[in-house]
Amino acid sequence: MEVKNCKGCKKLFNYIGGVQLCPVCREALEDKFQAVKKYIYENPKASLVEISEDNDVSNTQLRQWIREERLMFTEDSVIGIECENCGTRINTGRFCRRCKETLANTLNSAYQKPAVRDEQKKSQNSASRMRFLEGWNNSN
Ligand SMILES: [Zn+2]
Ligand SMILES: [Zn+2]
Repeated sequence: MEVKNCKGCKKLFNYIGGVQLCPVCREALEDKFQAVKKYIYENPKASLVEISEDNDVSNTQLRQWIREERLMFTEDSVIGIECENCGTRINTGRFCRRCKETLANTLNSAYQKPAVRDEQKKSQNSASRMRFLEGWNNSN
């Protein structure tokens, strides 16, 4: 088990992966998330700044929730973040619909090829290393 400093309260805690928060802060954050979700539901026209100020949540945290697709906004909402690929305004997630499709296509078509190429490179490397070792042994 790994011991880390909690990003929230700076106390040491047993880190089990995921968010670097102690169980107390993790729970507090979850409470906050639920509060924010409720707030957005009740104030659909609120801006990110308003949400952040009224709920005492950092803008960074809000954006992270949006990236994780935990917070969703309606199409006509004033809230938006940028697609990580092309910068288009999106309501949730990391990429706009168009980039998502393009990325999915690229991933599918190139899925196995790079791995195969890497394998070949690796075996070539070890082959040349073998030759080098043989030469070294002979000269010794
Ligand atoms: Zn903590
Ligand atoms: Zn995009």
